[in-house]
Amino acid sequence: MIDFHCHLDLYPEPERVIRECAARRMYVLSVTTTPRAWSGTSALATGYERIRTAIGLHPQLVGDRKRELPQLLHLLPVTRYVGEVGLDGSPEFMPFWRDQVEVFEKLLESCASVGGRILSVHSRRAENEVLSRIESCSGAGAIVLHWFSGRTRDLQRAIDIGCWFSVGPAMLRGKAGQKLAALMPRSRVLTESDGPFASHQGRPAMPWDVEEAVRELASIWRLSIASAEDQLLSNLRGLVAEQA
Ligand code: MN
Repeated sequence: MIDFHCHLDLYPEPERVIRECAARRMYVLSVTTTPRAWSGTSALATGYERIRTAIGLHPQLVGDRKRELPQLLHLLPVTRYVGEVGLDGSPEFMPFWRDQVEVFEKLLESCASVGGRILSVHSRRAENEVLSRIESCSGAGAIVLHWFSGRTRDLQRAIDIGCWFSVGPAMLRGKAGQKLAALMPRSRVLTESDGPFASHQGRPAMPWDVEEAVRELASIWRLSIASAEDQLLSNLRGLVAEQA
């Protein structure tokens, strides 16, 4: 199983979560929300082959943490994965919208200047704006839109640009999310938990809750669970090969 967007460092006992992921032989992308969190979070995954750590600056935190951007840019040459980054157009984050855009544009340019990276991108209520920035900075690398919740026509644009998508149980529980997932090219989809932020059955989502997303995707794709899992693993290999 694959959890391509998870905040391992934000669980009360991250070591236990990591051990459980390892026991289940899961592939995990551990995303961070601030550049300062990167070294500690990346240390958590030391010795775990299937867990990778991404350096990020969450758009919702840009108001307070913009000054940490140089730290992120400094570490970019040694990190292959970047996230969580992006834009958030919800009213509460609009007071620092211009800072969000400045940080995101700078990040994309910097990714391009080091040869491209694999990015886990947040686009809530800002799908158009995120896609425009990605379009104007084509060398930034492989873009994985996490928990995409835009309109069908934004999704089509993302597909045309060549984006990837990570989808989780929470997204696939609703009709709107299912409809979007059904329109995504099967070879561009990965699973994610977005734990512990996302909730699952009334408690924080755990990485292995992606199992439910695999079941949903299998049903959307009309495949067996085993074939859906094969498809997802082959997608992960494709993504990593695309941005080698
Ligand atoms: Mn997240």
